[in-house]
Amino acid sequence: MDTYTDVEKLDSPSQEVTVDHGPVAEPCRGVAKILADDAAKPPQTLTETQFRALRKQYFTIRHPRAPICGHKMDVLNEPRTGCELCWYAWLNMHGDLVQTADRAYQEQGEKFLIAMRGRVFVRMFLRFMSTLARLKQEAEQIEREKCTSETTKESNLDDYPLLNG
Ligand SMILES: [Zn+2]
Repeated sequence: MDTYTDVEKLDSPSQEVTVDHGPVAEPCRGVAKILADDAAKPPQTLTETQFRALRKQYFTIRHPRAPICGHKMDVLNEPRTGCELCWYAWLNMHGDLVQTADRAYQEQGEKFLIAMRGRVFVRMFLRFMSTLARLKQEAEQIEREKCTSETTKESNLDDYPLLNG
């Protein structure tokens, strides 16, 4: 009995196609129906899990994973490990502290900063600053190369009008 009912269910739409509407009209009607069904549906909302993940990412600033190394991180307190990546991520989050430390280092010297924040902090701070400088330098280099290649490309196109047509 069950098998028979299933077969009948499967068969009935195609019977409708051939008998009532013809093979050409049916796909159009089908698309229109799908669109109408979509419009009738309520807008898609995030699942509870997705929403929690987003909220965690945007509003919770507690123990996020430091990039790359994946160590657990304390946002407020400086890293207790000697992991440079943790320190980089942590210092990157504390712009004010970095500025203060930089000023102290420039004006009062390394010993003063060590007395203020400790030897590990100063070592990591100096690495952070030189990493930043290098990243900035490389970014500028890439930017310069991009500008140069764009200029070259433009003038090349002018030199070879065939490429434009
Ligand atoms: Zn780490």
